[in-house]
Amino acid sequence: MIDKYAVFGNPIAHSKSPLIHGLFARETSQTMEYDAILAPVDEFASSLNQFWKANGKGANITVPFKEQAFDLCDELSEQARLAGAVNTLTLLSDGSLRGDNTDGLGLVKDLKRHIGELSGLSVLLIGAGGAARGSALPLLQSGIGKLTIVNRTQSKAERLVECFKGYGDVCALPIEHTDKSYDIVINSTSSSLSGELPGISGSVIHGGTVCYDMMYGKEPTPFNVWAKEQGAKLTLDGLGMLVGQAAESFSIWRKVKPSVEPVLEALRSKL
Ligand code: NDP
Repeated sequence: MIDKYAVFGNPIAHSKSPLIHGLFARETSQTMEYDAILAPVDEFASSLNQFWKANGKGANITVPFKEQAFDLCDELSEQARLAGAVNTLTLLSDGSLRGDNTDGLGLVKDLKRHIGELSGLSVLLIGAGGAARGSALPLLQSGIGKLTIVNRTQSKAERLVECFKGYGDVCALPIEHTDKSYDIVINSTSSSLSGELPGISGSVIHGGTVCYDMMYGKEPTPFNVWAKEQGAKLTLDGLGMLVGQAAESFSIWRKVKPSVEPVLEALRSKL
């Protein structure tokens, strides 16, 4: 029977994961299936069990099930444990379930693909939701100099710092006190979804700053338009992070690394 993989979410029709993993499988000559599964909000665990019984080998998990997936795991990567959320499940040969979180690695690899090593760079992370929590450890482990976290609700940024302070130089600031500039500024808020800006001063950007909005779209995001106006050297959107996290999941399952660039080009042309 063919090995099956799937992304579970609700809603799920918009998911680009089947297209991405289909292209990875073709490029790496893997015989596998990858589907999108709409799990009822109160029946995630039973949908997942049915999938394992039908020769499911691994699953990507998206909104709103990442925390439930975390609770179902028998073992967790350090990244998933600290993120408190799982986006990649693997059914191991003894029937146990391992959880990973590949979102942050997808972000770090995308940044490195565009600007090279991140060693010593100062990074401002705007936002303290799930995407920020999943990105903090990979950023700190990438060799950056210092990670500063700001958020509309400051107490949430402070909580993140408490979680990650043993892993590198990380601090929280009130969002209105960001008067210093940074080498990299990452918008992990969902403000662009509603066409808004995250409420940060333009002084965080200098002529060499690289800005990254985790959101993506056909047109430049509101944050990236604003960042260009403030004089950012380079603005990047989250499509590369999306393909990057998928590539990490794929290599966990199939033990082969797919190429990110051709898939990114194919996806960009379909936005
Ligand atoms: P959460 O709901 O967990 O967190 C939302 C965050 O955005 C919070 O920090 C919230 O602040 C902040 N926020 C929301 N609206 C505003 C606003 N108008 N002004 C300032 N801050 C605001 O969402 P996620 O962390 O899961 O996702 C955040 C974004 O990242 C989404 O756009 C999502 O699409 C994107 N993403 C992209 C990925 C990719 O692969 N490219 C992967 C994962 C996420 P507060 O705490 O004050 O409410």
